[in-house]
Order: sequence, then structure tokens, then C-alpha cells
Amino acid sequence: MTRTLGLYLHIPFCKSKCAYCDFASWPGRERDMPAYAKRLQNELHMESSPDFLIDTVYIGGGTPSVLPPSLMARILDALRRDYRLAPDAEFSCECNPGTVTREFLSVLKEYGCNRLSMGAQAAQTPLLRMLGRIHVWEDVIRSAELARETGFNNLNLDLMLGLPGQTEKDVAETLKKALALSPTHLSCYGLIVEEGTPMQRRIASGEWRLPEDETERAEYETCREVLAANGFEQYEISNFALPGFACRHNVHCWQRKEYLGFGCAACGFLGNERWQNPPRLDDYLAGKEPEITQIGPEEAMFESVMLGLRMTEGVSLEAFFQMHGKRLEDVYGARLQKPLREGLAVLENGSLRLTRRGMDMQNRVLVELL
Ligand code: SF4
Repeated sequence: MTRTLGLYLHIPFCKSKCAYCDFASWPGRERDMPAYAKRLQNELHMESSPDFLIDTVYIGGGTPSVLPPSLMARILDALRRDYRLAPDAEFSCECNPGTVTREFLSVLKEYGCNRLSMGAQAAQTPLLRMLGRIHVWEDVIRSAELARETGFNNLNLDLMLGLPGQTEKDVAETLKKALALSPTHLSCYGLIVEEGTPMQRRIASGEWRLPEDETERAEYETCREVLAANGFEQYEISNFALPGFACRHNVHCWQRKEYLGFGCAACGFLGNERWQNPPRLDDYLAGKEPEITQIGPEEAMFESVMLGLRMTEGVSLEAFFQMHGKRLEDVYGARLQKPLREGLAVLENGSLRLTRRGMDMQNRVLVELL
């Protein structure tokens, strides 16, 4: 029986570590790249099945674009050899504007990649320096031009909000410069200060100060307004796309559809089983087994609601029933009353979704439902 799935590949190498980053990514491990590519090829081969039909591929990191093009070609060759891709599959790859080369993009193109996602973050050099990014905005322009020349017309830019020292004016300027590059998609993420990062230490020491909540909210509103005025639809808390260009891979994750994950720290989930590959590069290279957990029915239903409420369209009642064999209203009926009464959520047109105010208080709604 055919099983339609997403597929995620993790590339855990970076040129240097950004100040805010706690992702599974390591600088200075170039010597391990060939062994990593080999391990990834083996993993892809071992897990493949003629029953799988892949309708979205997402290569993330780390920085996939730091891999030598020849190694990326070997990995993609294994992917295309061992997996059946749907003819209209969405195939995304993350790139760092400081590392994009024509050769790398040509390899992606050759193997069917049709969407690029670039970590642009901000147009102001002092902000990029503070974040520890290796690029400046001119690199974003150069990479976007290179992408077009290589035939990529579906381009996402990641931007960051709520940075120490960032102003609403900076955000407006970044949006203007980003829109000038004709992206199809923009992700506008609020900074999350992760424990143990240089960013967290410098904020804790008082060297850097986070903006007031009000400033961050104003930055977010600026994004919403400017992007709406330019034809972008908001389809998730942080994600905006021109019509028809929402990232299908991410939408499928928020709809709790099954996916395979390969590479260090990658997660996957099939049926009621979830697994995570070893989060440390050395363990992955040494062949350590993934950690497998069973997902109980309660947890599965809560995941559907938690993930689905991130999207502006919310959770489809029909899809919930199909997935769990229970009506969402029956499972959460009593617990839903408060958020509905307070105008944080609505049940309409066959979906449960958050209102604009509810989006700002998503955690509160989820606590009610728990
Ligand atoms: S480029 Fe991305 S993954 Fe690499 S260190 Fe910076 S934020 Fe982390």
C-alpha cells in the first residue's frame, strides 16, 4: 500500500556558530563531511521501501550549502535512487547566503530541488554581526541573483524579529530590501533566547538588552501589514507566502502528516512511532541507533491540536476525525469552552482555529486544552 510521506535530511555543518544557535550544527568539522555523506547514504538506503511515495523533501541544517557540491551530489543521488518522488514534489533546501555557489545550486537543480530557503535575518550589518552571522546583505542579493540564474524562482527568506537593538524602522527596511528580491515566501521569526548560547549569556550579563514586548509586537505588526500590502498571505504564526507558495513540507508537519528524517538529530514519525537520530554528530557517525518512542492516542490528538493551531486555517475537524477516529469537539468539548467564550478560538467552517488575539496567546489556549 502506498504511503505518502515527507522526507527531511539534516546537514549538521556550519562555517561558524551563530550567537543564538542551539541547533545540531558544528563548525570546523569539514574533515567529517565525507563520512557523514556516506552514513547518510547508508541510512537512506536502509530505510527505503517501495511503498513510500515522497511528496515533500526538505534539506535543512546546519548549513547544507557548506557541503562541497560533489558530496551533496552523492547524497542526492542516493535519495533519488532509493526513493520514489511524486512528480510534483516540493523539494526545498536551506542555504546560507554567505556560502552559496553556482556549482552547489546547479547540483541541487540537477537533482530536482525546486525551492530555496535562505537565512537572510536582517539587512543591517551591525545586527548581523551581533547575531554572529557570516554574511552581509550584499551576499543575500548576490545569492538571490545566483538562484534566479540557476533557475530557482521559488525563494524563501528567513527574517528575525525581537533582536537586541533592533528597531521597527530596521524591520521595515529589511522587509523592503527583502521584497526587492522577489521572494515567494517570507518567514519572520521572533528571536528565542536559548539557554547556554552566547546570546543568552550576554543578555543575562546586561551587555545586550532585548526590546520591550511592545516593540517586538510592533515589529511583528509591521511584517503583517507590509506583507499583506504586497500580496502575501499569512498561513502560520511566522510564515507568509504569495498565493500557492506556502511551504508544503511545513504545512504537512503542522497537519501531523507522517515523515521520514535522516541525518544527525533528525526526527521522523510513522504511525504511532516517533524516532530521533543521535543528536551528537560523533554518535551519529559511530552508528548509534535512534531513540524510538511510542505515541499514545491522547498525545497524538493533542499534537494535532497544538500543531494545527499554529496555522491560520486551524485544525480541520474532518481531518482530525479521519486521523484519530474521534470528533475533536467530543474530545476537547468542555476544555474548549473557555477559549471560545473569551474569543481566543473559533469553531467555524469545519475547523477549530485561533483568532488574531488567540494567536498572541497560543500557549494559554494550549494550557486550557491540556
Ligand atoms: S547558520 Fe544556522 S545552523 Fe548554522 S550556526 Fe547559524 S543559526 Fe545555527
